[in-house]
Amino acid sequence: MDDTARRSPSIQCPTCGKSFTLSKKRCPFCNSPVVKSAEWKPEPELVLPPPRQVVWRTINIVVIVILLLPSVLLGLLALGGLLGGDASLPILLVSGIWLLFILGAFYFANFSHKAQLRLARSLITTGSVTCGTVLTKSVVEHGAEGDLYEYLVAFDAGEDDLRWLTERSSDEIPPGEAVTVLYSPEGPTRAIIYKLSDYRAAKPKSKTVPVRSTGG
Ligand SMILES: [Zn+2]
Repeated sequence: MDDTARRSPSIQCPTCGKSFTLSKKRCPFCNSPVVKSAEWKPEPELVLPPPRQVVWRTINIVVIVILLLPSVLLGLLALGGLLGGDASLPILLVSGIWLLFILGAFYFANFSHKAQLRLARSLITTGSVTCGTVLTKSVVEHGAEGDLYEYLVAFDAGEDDLRWLTERSSDEIPPGEAVTVLYSPEGPTRAIIYKLSDYRAAKPKSKTVPVRSTGG
């Protein structure tokens, strides 16, 4: 988030292949736009005016259910054993280990990137919505369950120059894809790629969604 330390990266024009410093909205050599706004449409839930309601991404709810079901079952078994006076040690042991396991899983899944989650929450609630384009995708870590990528995304915050952000994720987005970026109007260095966030904005309740011009 340290803006003074951030130097604009050098990028390669996807159209003509020449390198230039990322700041201008168009390639200085072939004049093609850096951000592919024509290919982008905001997600319907983000078209709602802020403050928006934040919900968990569906995948996480599935994970919670998968983790919670055995926990409840083991808990009931252990409780039944205790109340019945014949508390069996293996069941208590398994319950305890399982509990530690899910607490650990939740810790690593969420609380290890608390700052990122806080940022996502606040930007989904009140941030501005704009179009971004994935410029580069680089592997920063090879993992057993998949690689960790770092994305460089240019986005239009309604200023003369383009803004950019980097974000790491194991989710895959091909370079060149237009993505939705949420940024803070007070300081566009605070920005996230909506698609990669652990949260979503709540879906609009009525069928009539106000259509707003996205500008830029
Ligand atoms: Zn070019």
